[in-house]
Amino acid sequence: MSSQHGLRLIQKDQTPKLAIVVLAIVAILSIYIVGYDQGQLFSLAQGNDAYQSMWLHEFTHDIRHAAGFPCH
Ligand SMILES: [Zn+2]
Repeated sequence: MSSQHGLRLIQKDQTPKLAIVVLAIVAILSIYIVGYDQGQLFSLAQGNDAYQSMWLHEFTHDIRHAAGFPCH
């Protein structure tokens, strides 16, 4: 049996490292928005009013409870 017909089990990773980094950032940001944001993100542009309105919190409120994050 020649070595040309032997099994080749070596697989090279075809996923670009940049895609893994970008998806990890999106995942972490999504978990933060759904689970922990109390107006901090919008306060960067809206100021202290964002802590009163909490748009992201209200928008993701049902998802937050469905995912098991406590908020009140
Ligand atoms: Zn709640």
